[in-house]
Amino acid sequence: MAEPAGGFIMSKNSVFVYSDAFQTYKFHDRHPFNQLRVKLTYDLLRKINALDDAQIVEPRMATDEELALVHDRDYIEAVKMAGKGKLSEEVALNYGLGTEDTPIFPNMHEASALLVGGTLTAVDYVLSGKAKHALSLGGGLHHGFRGKASGFCIYNDSSVAIKYIQEKYQLRVLYVDTDAHHGDGVQWTFYDDPNVCTFSIHETGRYLFPGTGNVNERGQGKGYGYSFNIPVDAFTEDESWLDAYTQALREIADFFRPDVILTQNGVDAHYYDPLTHLSTTMRIYREIPKLAHEIAHQYCDGRWIAVGGGGYDIWRVVPRAWALLWLEMTEQSNISGPLPKEWIDEWQKHSPVPLPTEWDDPDDLYPPIPRKAEITEKNAQTVMKALQPIRINKQKLNLL
Ligand SMILES: [Zn+2]
Repeated sequence: MAEPAGGFIMSKNSVFVYSDAFQTYKFHDRHPFNQLRVKLTYDLLRKINALDDAQIVEPRMATDEELALVHDRDYIEAVKMAGKGKLSEEVALNYGLGTEDTPIFPNMHEASALLVGGTLTAVDYVLSGKAKHALSLGGGLHHGFRGKASGFCIYNDSSVAIKYIQEKYQLRVLYVDTDAHHGDGVQWTFYDDPNVCTFSIHETGRYLFPGTGNVNERGQGKGYGYSFNIPVDAFTEDESWLDAYTQALREIADFFRPDVILTQNGVDAHYYDPLTHLSTTMRIYREIPKLAHEIAHQYCDGRWIAVGGGGYDIWRVVPRAWALLWLEMTEQSNISGPLPKEWIDEWQKHSPVPLPTEWDDPDDLYPPIPRKAEITEKNAQTVMKALQPIRINKQKLNLL
């Protein structure tokens, strides 16, 4: 059962990596990626007294050496130059910089290195034993590639963090990505590595960026069988999404037996999200961290690092969803009912849409989905396919 809010034990157990400087990662005013959502979440948690001063830690900047665990040196130099306005458009485009998705902005290197540093701060807290769990909502930039920016992501904090964990702590990492977009950058970085298991559940790439994340992408070489993908159909609803997530994560964790779990918590699978086509509600954002938390204690002695990710309805979806993640991490997730009036009053004047008034979504958030049965059946088959190698292996072992 959940324990009451506040208290000494909890503040030692989890840390919340936060700085207003996360706001410096900003493309321009009309870009959908908006870090104001981190501040909105922080403020919501403060207003319900669920986040103590003692739990908040400052992010540090990642060093060039740390970034180079994953990223090419020439790419890092290009990002630095771009942020100083010193990179030609042509060269920039070769690095994925200056596109509509990932425009150039002043000091983009420093802003991006801080997000990576935030995730590394979370890693060090957990793996040095100073905290059981850590959350850095500035991170989760899962589309960043070794030598190229992509899909709003410049440096890939999770990829850097996993390499860092391998080098500094020699641990096996389970990466769990529940963003509505495929976690391609992290998957490809560790595609041939059997000591990193990646699991991404996302909207099928048929009509959605980045187009990958097919169920048949299983890894290569020694890493074959350590990459899992569940592409769910457009309009997938809570029940089917949660069935897929729960079955898959349980079986994958049991198969891989990780030392540490890193979860990417993009919250763009929600019905309101303007960039995707899924039909989930706040219900999945209660359940996602609950199971991650359970798995962390079952296999990893609690070692759980969580980062943010996508989430483009920054007013109605992200603050509630990310607050629920922290509340689960700190065993305060039994919250429900109305959101604090002070939070609504503070932010409603800035929001172009009416803010939600309750923690949970109403049952009639959207009209019934006509193809529900078909979508549910299709997703169940996808889960079967994704988990087939584990299940076949288990059967073999049982026969011996
Ligand atoms: Zn996304």
